Amino acid sequence: MSTEEFELIIVGAGPAGLCAAMYAGRGMLKAVLLERGVPGGELLNTEWVDDYPGFEHILGRELAQKMTAHAIAFGADIRQEHVESIARREDGIFEVVTSGGTTYEAPAVILTAGGTPHKLDVPGEYEYAGRGVSYCAVCDGAFFKGETIAVVGGGDAAVEEAEYLSRYAEKVYVIHRRDEFRASRILQERLFANPKIEVIWNKRVRELKGGPAGLEWIEMVDTVTGEELALKVSGCFIFIGFRPNTGLVTQHVDHDPSGYIITDERMMTSIPGLFAAGDLRMQLTRQVTTAVGDATTAAIAVEKFLKARKSGMPGASVGV
Ligand code: NAP
Repeated sequence: MSTEEFELIIVGAGPAGLCAAMYAGRGMLKAVLLERGVPGGELLNTEWVDDYPGFEHILGRELAQKMTAHAIAFGADIRQEHVESIARREDGIFEVVTSGGTTYEAPAVILTAGGTPHKLDVPGEYEYAGRGVSYCAVCDGAFFKGETIAVVGGGDAAVEEAEYLSRYAEKVYVIHRRDEFRASRILQERLFANPKIEVIWNKRVRELKGGPAGLEWIEMVDTVTGEELALKVSGCFIFIGFRPNTGLVTQHVDHDPSGYIITDERMMTSIPGLFAAGDLRMQLTRQVTTAVGDATTAAIAVEKFLKARKSGMPGASVGV
């Protein structure tokens, strides 16, 4: 068990965390960025990024590497640590406890921990996870070369990943519970133009079935007629949204009904000194560009917050 003191602790090294660390470095803050895996966050689950200004077409993992290198060039201290809890003491200092036994302390925390994929919660989903059921096209797509697979969902992620998976699979069915997608028009147009992809509208997945070799069948129910049918596939990729990773904070943080953290315009949450940026924040859209925008605001707001705190200004407890 050990304790280390910082001015700022950033939790999660996706685009938001890496950008916050870069700004913290530029602002000469004594900051640490804690990440349980490899830096990059959702960028590592995205093949091509076409909408990050300055990069017309770049691999997600390449952008992640560039962001990491950029943050390090400005002095970011990135540590591989699994954060278990974040709690604010009465003196305004946060204690961030990791599974490695270290307690990181700082008067400011930026939470950039992203989210985890929603589950269908149907029989067979957990049984065949990793044996046909997947939540990451870039990680698992290549295992399904020449095979017939399905994607479940109707948002940007489902439509975009179906398109990606079609480069490996012989046939990709997209199973959606309604008769229209909520995905953006441009992604839909690409999907409809792809001869390897077929949409199965108005179907709810009831069960995933298989054998010792893995997934074999998806059983579905028509959401309009109630008709039951089964589809033979060897893979099922589930993209039905994700849950923001906000459970690390032990005290109550204001959030919307879906669990996304509510912040003010400085990215400060309802807990003074706790800032949030990126996918776990309540906002209209969740893009790489909005994540780094949030993080920029948060890191600069932290600088002001720390100054106010040092000078004993009342703003340090209620805002900046
Ligand atoms: P999303 O936009 O929330 O879409 C979730 C989809 O899953 C919806 O179509 C929903 O159906 C369906 N769904 C939810 N629960 C379901 C269930 N239990 N069974 C079957 N279907 C279910 O989530 P997302 O696609 O992961 O996107 C999340 C955010 O990331 C969005 O803001 C999106 O714009 C952004 N994103 C952007 C890009 C990009 O721009 N390239 C790529 C990926 C993600 P209904 O439509 O019927 O509700």
